[in-house]
Amino acid sequence: MSQKVSSQEIREKFLQFFKEKGHAVIPSASLIPENDPTVLFTTAGMHPLVPFLLGEKHPSGKRLCNFQKCVRTGDIDRIGDAWYLSFFEMLGNWSFGDYFKKEAIEWSFEFLSSKKWLGIEKEKLSITVFAGDKDAGRDEESARAWKELGIPEERIFYFPKSENWWGPAGLTGPCGPCTEMFYDTGKPYCIKGKGPKINEQCNPGCKCGKFVEIWNDVFMQYNKTAEGKFIPLKQKNVDTGMGLERITAILNSCKSNFETDLLEGIMRAIQSVSKVSVSESNLASARIITDHLRAATFILGDEKGITPSNVDQGYVLRRLIRRAVRHARLLGIEENFTAKIAVEVIERFKSVYPELGKNRNRILTELDKEESKFKSLLEKGLKLVSKEFETLRAGKKKTLAAKTAFDLYQSFGFPLEMTQELAKEQGFKVDEEGFEKMLSEHQEISRKGAEQKFSGGLADHSEAVTRLHTATHLLNEALRKIVSPNIHQKGSNITSERLRFDFPLERKLTQEEIKKVEDLVNLKIQEGLTVEMEVMSLEKAKAVKAQGVFEGKYAENVKVYTVWNPHTQEVFSREICGGPHVKNTKELGKFKIVKEESSAAGIRRIKAVLEN
Ligand code: ATP
Ligand code: MG
Repeated sequence: MSQKVSSQEIREKFLQFFKEKGHAVIPSASLIPENDPTVLFTTAGMHPLVPFLLGEKHPSGKRLCNFQKCVRTGDIDRIGDAWYLSFFEMLGNWSFGDYFKKEAIEWSFEFLSSKKWLGIEKEKLSITVFAGDKDAGRDEESARAWKELGIPEERIFYFPKSENWWGPAGLTGPCGPCTEMFYDTGKPYCIKGKGPKINEQCNPGCKCGKFVEIWNDVFMQYNKTAEGKFIPLKQKNVDTGMGLERITAILNSCKSNFETDLLEGIMRAIQSVSKVSVSESNLASARIITDHLRAATFILGDEKGITPSNVDQGYVLRRLIRRAVRHARLLGIEENFTAKIAVEVIERFKSVYPELGKNRNRILTELDKEESKFKSLLEKGLKLVSKEFETLRAGKKKTLAAKTAFDLYQSFGFPLEMTQELAKEQGFKVDEEGFEKMLSEHQEISRKGAEQKFSGGLADHSEAVTRLHTATHLLNEALRKIVSPNIHQKGSNITSERLRFDFPLERKLTQEEIKKVEDLVNLKIQEGLTVEMEVMSLEKAKAVKAQGVFEGKYAENVKVYTVWNPHTQEVFSREICGGPHVKNTKELGKFKIVKEESSAAGIRRIKAVLEN
């Protein structure tokens, strides 16, 4: 690539290209998802559009495109390498039951390779498609489309569901294969024995960094039923996403995201406050600080007003800031510096994301406050942990006790992954399971404390809300049992007076169904079922078949609420949810549906109350 392209030009070109193909441009949504308690952040451009992928009509039509701010923390330990970020921008285009594979692939290819647009040589592109399995056929249609565009067979790779499949939402729902575009960085194939197979050239499935994934086209064409069957969908959708940082880096021959105009200025600002020069040995620290403080600035700058705390989004924010402060120490930075870096971020991005300029004061104040708060603890915590490491070394032990990790968390504000990172640097592990256990025990105790404190009637409001939260889980499950196993939460809104629950269904509920659903919920209330919360990995949550709103990327750990009878071991409902919930369904009173109505095409809405 001879001519350098700025990230802003790429945003504009992308929108212009898809406008010419009949797409409406929609704005970037908030980083905090609306009405979706199961996922903390918007992780892809698709996320705010899920209702429309499920059949609701979008006011701007069937073809949309945008750039979307995203936060992902699932790959947090990969940040510091060339291509992974916790905050990034995604360029996306969508078809809701309009065009499908052939056009989507042709347009991705045209935008990437045409001289008029990005002008990437097609020899640099490799493609992956779905290999097919017992559920769904090999995606020959996509492979054919790529071949017709001149991508030779040997640069098309077939992978299983783990790599080339999206969804479904919960256990059931829309899903389908995807095709991903990779750029060959020109690095040598990875060393023999380190590739996916010894003596075989590596391919886009390899993590060595030769191939960088730039764009993903997802084709939603099946509905997964409760029986585990994959039935072709009537409305076939396209959902694509391309990482702005990665494509900017590639077009400018940068070796990583961090040399692009999106991140380079921030990295330079960090170098200017650093007491040691940045070299190979501390490059990862500089990159982590750059990424984390940019992410923190965007989270603080979001209209939803998130600030550092010990729960949910606030805790992700806190972890990002604290990890940045810890790495800053490795660069010899002693003065408070995070607000200074945020100024760089705000200046760099406020023309595209005006909320950053608008919320400038909050961003700077909160960063500085959190930094000061943590710095005094950091020093003491580091002393404690290095003593522990010495004891372990002397006793030839490898694992840091859960109690130490918990003390560091509780008394010094060290997020678990910080302790794990410190341990890893010294060749130790942390008893993670033990830590999680202590943490959930601790949360139970402090919840009980809060309940006792509020039992003087002060907390009527939040108690009412808590009861309605639990009632919502019972309602969801009762609908699934009585009306259809495909029902799942599309949206939920709770006030102290009532709950509101949206779910996909093409028809009105009958009076008889409403009565049966009410009766089942009331039966489960009378049975006095236990409500139990457990923090677990997303994988485990899936394995225990917890319901979730949809399969985006969640935080690495999720809270799962189970409503069950511990004597018979019978589980009535199990959902991934942020809570809060009652301890026993007996606390709910009498459940009554007050309204059942349509909320959008194919979406029903129930309003219900609890009577004492
Ligand atoms: P990867 O396999 O590289 O982790 P992914 O398959 O999880 O990526 P998608 O969900 O397909 O990513 O996202 C679409 C595009 O968004 C990717 O092709 C990539 O360009 C970009 N992207 C995804 N995750 C990140 C990240 N953590 N940092 C920067 N860009 C990303
Ligand atoms: Mg992908």
